[in-house]
Amino acid sequence: MAKSLIAGNWKMHGNAASAASLATELAEHWTDQNSVEMIVFPPFVHLTQVSVAVGHSGVAVGGQNLCQFESGAYTGEISAVMLADLGCQYVLVGHSERRALFGETDQAVAEKFKAAQQAGLVPVLCVGESLQQRQQQQTLEIVARQISAVIESVALEGLCRAVIAYEPVWAIGTGETASPEQAQEVHGAIRAQLGDLGRETTLLYGGSVNPGNAAALFAQPDINGGLVGGASLEADDFLNIAQQLIEQE
Ligand code: PEP
Repeated sequence: MAKSLIAGNWKMHGNAASAASLATELAEHWTDQNSVEMIVFPPFVHLTQVSVAVGHSGVAVGGQNLCQFESGAYTGEISAVMLADLGCQYVLVGHSERRALFGETDQAVAEKFKAAQQAGLVPVLCVGESLQQRQQQQTLEIVARQISAVIESVALEGLCRAVIAYEPVWAIGTGETASPEQAQEVHGAIRAQLGDLGRETTLLYGGSVNPGNAAALFAQPDINGGLVGGASLEADDFLNIAQQLIEQE
């Protein structure tokens, strides 16, 4: 069975004190015995505070991005090894904000994915279509292409050891969510693309997940959890969403 995960992407929000306090609150209410894994993705500069705050609670920590190169003259970049060194177990790769606002191509995303795995991190590969692509009925084609680029880089076996988050771009930070049926259609297609090797690959849904819509999304057969942006900044909301995933177990 695929592992269930609930992940919080804090994006570029907060400060050192608020990051530590949010992490402490999550850690206080989370127990390692849960069948669901919780991950938080704070800004790079708060990773240390957050790692210390979560301690041995079982809440895992990840980076929101990484550089595809190992080390060297890449001013402003952070390598996979640096993230692992700070205690990260996971890293987001190819978030739509990285693709749309910072020009990350499928090729760069595939290289970052490979670098993450080489450093022992679990990449959370984000894929998804824009509103225009959905309106032009290109959703499945776009998502398959984004996934194929990674398969070319690390082979199907490598991809299946990671986590994939389907995040329709039009649903991220907009308050608009894919319906459970729309989300399941894409998750089902991703599962089919992965074939037998991907039966236990964790597939997350992301895009305005909140306490009101989480249960219906998590009830879908190929959705193994959520990648949550806005609602992960409030401990109560995020824990509530996590609880709804635990209840699906
Ligand atoms: C995200 O940042 O990956 C995300 C899904 O954000 P939100 O939940 O705010 O739509």
